[in-house]
Amino acid sequence: MSILQEKIQLNNGTAIPVVGLGTVTPDDKKPILREVVRTAILDAGYRHIDTAWYYGVEPILGEVLEEIFNEGKIKREDLFITTKVWPALWSNPQKSLDKSLKDLRVDYVDLWLQHWPLTFKSDENGQPPVPRDSSGKVIEDDGDFLDTYKKMVDIYKNSNKVKAIGVSNYSIGNLDRLLKETDVVPVINQIELHPQLPLNDLVEFCNKHKIVVEAYSPFGSNGAPVLELPLVKQLAEKYNVRPADILVNYHTASGRVALPRSLNPDRIKQGYKKVPLTKEDLAKLYEIGEKEPKRYIKEDWGHHIGLPFWD
Ligand code: NDP
Repeated sequence: MSILQEKIQLNNGTAIPVVGLGTVTPDDKKPILREVVRTAILDAGYRHIDTAWYYGVEPILGEVLEEIFNEGKIKREDLFITTKVWPALWSNPQKSLDKSLKDLRVDYVDLWLQHWPLTFKSDENGQPPVPRDSSGKVIEDDGDFLDTYKKMVDIYKNSNKVKAIGVSNYSIGNLDRLLKETDVVPVINQIELHPQLPLNDLVEFCNKHKIVVEAYSPFGSNGAPVLELPLVKQLAEKYNVRPADILVNYHTASGRVALPRSLNPDRIKQGYKKVPLTKEDLAKLYEIGEKEPKRYIKEDWGHHIGLPFWD
């Protein structure tokens, strides 16, 4: 059975499909994205797309989505679309949202996230997206990253353009501050998470505050190293599924959302099967990262934002 259409409730009463299509796409692979998205939605049954202003793919997604809606098989309200505000546009999230909506060719997004709790010193159009000085160091602005979320709250409350708001790459300390200084609890915190990086304290904090955790890079990103773990392979054999099914179910069985990416249409077509992982299976998967944590996405701008295991 596929789990692509299963949903969980968010703290504002909306619901999110537990698996979303990751859309980070290297430039040389962008031509394949059209086919991947069509296959994902029309053949595999994906109903959730995770994208961002920063990924540079929203114009491509917009074209494909418009095409699919015009064909009449899927309606806008059948899909859950997420986009994000990049730190280069931290002081003007409205501009970021308007650009994303225009490029995606939709009137609203289902979820809008603050991509990182950071402020970059870029121009009013968010250029360059990652400003660096002559030594290569990221140039940060002296603003407060929480101002972005506060502006997102205003937009959420005063327009129909976003159905829910949330954050990404927030540590416990940053979430704690957000909860004290604002009156809208984010519905989501999107973070790197997989058996090598279980981040139990952060996940527990989110659960306590009814913030659903979304797992990005669930396979360990490029090259998919987490799929190679011996226990993941053993469990795949035990249940006669693919290692990728095990890693997706590791999250969905624990009430989280998984955001796997593949630019291989044959893989996309297979979707993800529901696997009856036992408590013992899950405990063994958690043990891997509890003993030897490993983070794969270690962007240099993220080392000081309070998320563990950056070095
Ligand atoms: P993933 O962890 O999803 O891994 C992607 C890699 O896995 C690709 O190399 C892909 O290769 C490979 N792969 C996928 N399926 C299989 C399979 N069945 N067997 C073998 N290999 C496979 O990577 P991402 O880092 O892209 O994370 C997923 C999504 O999370 C992103 O696309 C984005 O939407 C989000 N994200 C958010 C971030 C944030 O800061 N909020 C940061 C990073 C990601 P192939 O294409 O050949 O299948």
